[in-house]
Amino acid sequence: LMNENKKIWLSPPHMGGRERELVQEVFDINWISPAGPHIDIFEEKLSNISLNYSVAALSSGTAAIHLALIIAGVRKNDNVICSSFTFSASANPITYLGANPIFIDSERETWNMCPNLLERAIEDAIKINKKPKAIVLVHLYGMPAKMEDIMLIANKFSIPLIEDAAEALGSKYKKQQIGTFSDFGVYSFNGNKIITTSAGGALVCKNQIHAKKARFLSTQARDDANHYEHSEVGYNYRMSNVCAAIGLGQLDVLSDRVFKKREIFNYYKDKLSSIKEITFSKENQDSFSNYWLTTILFDENSAIGRERLRLHLANSNIESRPLWKPMHLQPVFNDCKSYVNGVSEDLFKRGLCLPSGTSMTKEDLDRIINKVKELYEV
Ligand SMILES: *Cc1c(COP(=O)(O)O)cnc(C)c1O
Repeated sequence: LMNENKKIWLSPPHMGGRERELVQEVFDINWISPAGPHIDIFEEKLSNISLNYSVAALSSGTAAIHLALIIAGVRKNDNVICSSFTFSASANPITYLGANPIFIDSERETWNMCPNLLERAIEDAIKINKKPKAIVLVHLYGMPAKMEDIMLIANKFSIPLIEDAAEALGSKYKKQQIGTFSDFGVYSFNGNKIITTSAGGALVCKNQIHAKKARFLSTQARDDANHYEHSEVGYNYRMSNVCAAIGLGQLDVLSDRVFKKREIFNYYKDKLSSIKEITFSKENQDSFSNYWLTTILFDENSAIGRERLRLHLANSNIESRPLWKPMHLQPVFNDCKSYVNGVSEDLFKRGLCLPSGTSMTKEDLDRIINKVKELYEV
């Protein structure tokens, strides 16, 4: 009976097994600091799954976006383009720099940045001599954006692209790991992500000078001297060696996690297919999603709707969550420019994230599915 009402979280951490032993190792060698051998190995292993690009292990995905913007040359009052349909952490670092985000709405197919609106925003900005200094492109819920179209535009105007792949480790576009298509890729290892270091992130750089710079900036920008000498403003953004040890255990099981996330998505899709007013996202021929979260959309004229289902699940101790509220609708970004087509606002109104934790059992999944079906009596 207790088990029947056990809380089911949206996306809780899921340890692989070796993490405790690796953390013990860190204690044994006493490298309990934001320096140490586990960080180096973690960077190397991440690099191995990221086209062997250089990796800087950092304290969060947000920190990685912040440093990518700095290294891309973003300064006060610059324009920076950003996906509107995302978590606020994609956009916040733009404002840390005193730069101005320009938000771009989504296209219907992948829910990610619309290439047409992107091109229009760049052309408009160039007309007033304010060419954007960078583009923050998000791969939401693990679904790859339309990389080919986006890269064509970024290249045409020579604007650095920062891939926010915080939700997309293990996702692929044309068989290539997401986060490796441009100068900068960002991963997050927060507790809710597909693998976690408790808190953490990484910046993946095509150019190894950039990764070196990120490591330098993340450790207080200390110049090469015996005393503490600084000629630049630094940050305390380095990953802790304790976190890196957890991350090494998690990297071992990354492919298992991707497999399980996809299995969860397919199970929901299969079992809920009888409900006509609920639809699921779809990969296209180029994309492979890690399905970080399974998301569903209700028909416009659904009798139930996402809030009713969310509350129904919450009553049974099952956590679900509306899709991200677009940044152009967030009070904090009221004054920012945006290019809007109504897609992300519509998705926000009709969409719900279902529990997608990889440690869920078949019984957990069936409990959720039965609760959904209860509302429909099918
Ligand atoms: C989680 C997340 C981030 C931020 O990562 P942290 O490690 O939590 O700082 C950035 N962008 C997106 C899309 C995210 O989901």
